[in-house]
Amino acid sequence: MSVPDGRGVFDLPLGEVDPELAELIGGELRRQRTTLDLVASESVPPRAVLEAQGSVLTAKYADGFPGHRDYDTCEWVDAIESLAIERAKSLFCAEHANVQPYSGSNANIAVLHALCEPGDAVLGWDFEHGGHPTHYWSGTFAGRFHATSSYGVRKEDRLVDMDQVAEMAERHRPKVVFAGWSCYPRWLDFRRFREICDAVGAYLVVDMAHFAGLVAAGLHPDPVPYADACTMTVHKTLGGARGGAILCRADLASRVDAAVYPGEQGGPLPHVIAAKAVTFALAATDGFRARMEATLAGARTMADRLVAERGRTGAEVVTGGTDVHQLLVDLSPAGEEAGAALSRLNRIGISANAMRLAYDPATPPHGSGLRLGANALAARGFRSTEFDAVGSLLADALEDRVDARSAELSARVQELLAGFPLYGYLPG
Ligand SMILES: *Cc1c(COP(=O)(O)O)cnc(C)c1O
Repeated sequence: MSVPDGRGVFDLPLGEVDPELAELIGGELRRQRTTLDLVASESVPPRAVLEAQGSVLTAKYADGFPGHRDYDTCEWVDAIESLAIERAKSLFCAEHANVQPYSGSNANIAVLHALCEPGDAVLGWDFEHGGHPTHYWSGTFAGRFHATSSYGVRKEDRLVDMDQVAEMAERHRPKVVFAGWSCYPRWLDFRRFREICDAVGAYLVVDMAHFAGLVAAGLHPDPVPYADACTMTVHKTLGGARGGAILCRADLASRVDAAVYPGEQGGPLPHVIAAKAVTFALAATDGFRARMEATLAGARTMADRLVAERGRTGAEVVTGGTDVHQLLVDLSPAGEEAGAALSRLNRIGISANAMRLAYDPATPPHGSGLRLGANALAARGFRSTEFDAVGSLLADALEDRVDARSAELSARVQELLAGFPLYGYLPG
């Protein structure tokens, strides 16, 4: 490959400077256009978000916070970050917002840094039970620097066991309790979490990485009044910039800010912060609320269809349905391993996640769970009619263990997608 050099290179498009890489990105665009995306953590970032995130702000160094930078010439990025902060505070009715975390994981690390000392006890939600590793696991910052323990869901109904949370809080006296999930289909009782934390003098951190968009739209219980701090991603149900954010009470603001910078991160990413500002503005609109309503209805429609088709698929919808943008399917009654089922879905153009479930009978590393999200498809324009068709497709695909119908099922996937072009303004 020959890369052009000299001054002129700065004004050339990617396709001319690096055709090899441009071709790879083009491949990913074609994949997105032709994949029925049921990955619950993914969405479709709007063009405005992509433009902000790919803007000239990429060049700017701005260590610190608006009005207090280690660099001069920050007047424009100060205004941009202030806008993102004000929009986040207004969207979630929060006293303070920090929009600098590079990701949801960094937000969790910073909150632990802000609220406790190394060695303090931290209570999190077990990964196989639907939580996130950054809440407690030994392979992450949380478990490496804190005395962590984790709670989970009850065997009989697969709902989070609040009595276990209370009992473990009494026993371990945590400084921080995490509430929030990656793989769970129901609402949480934030009031009960608050009571448990108050009883032992713990901070409550709600990790709304997945459901922040639903909260913003007013379609999910609001954790902000109960939590000392909330962490989130901006790219899952919020559907925008790639990164994290933290909300907290005013009296914790300076500790949280100092933990993000210089505690855990270097200079902020002004281009991503600008894209977060766009995301928060969009999330305050009626159009976004309608999309989140369609997301919830879509997840319920797929769940209802799979419950109705249980006789022929053998697959069980965990907790019998969903209150959020995703559903969990237990394939153990069907006697199928989730990785094998996911490979079959992939072959017909559907993406999703396979995982281990709580009390999973499969031998690790295998699992019996499929996580199916409605977020990306609702962002693409799918509504209940299409989601019902997706539910039928899933049932047919789960039943078809020998790929006898894969050509027909692939054609149905492409037919559904053809009605909803993706990034039509982009060539290729
Ligand atoms: C996705 C997720 C995160 C991490 O977000 P990244 O941006 O991938 O680091 C943290 N917590 C929960 C509950 C998540 O689902």
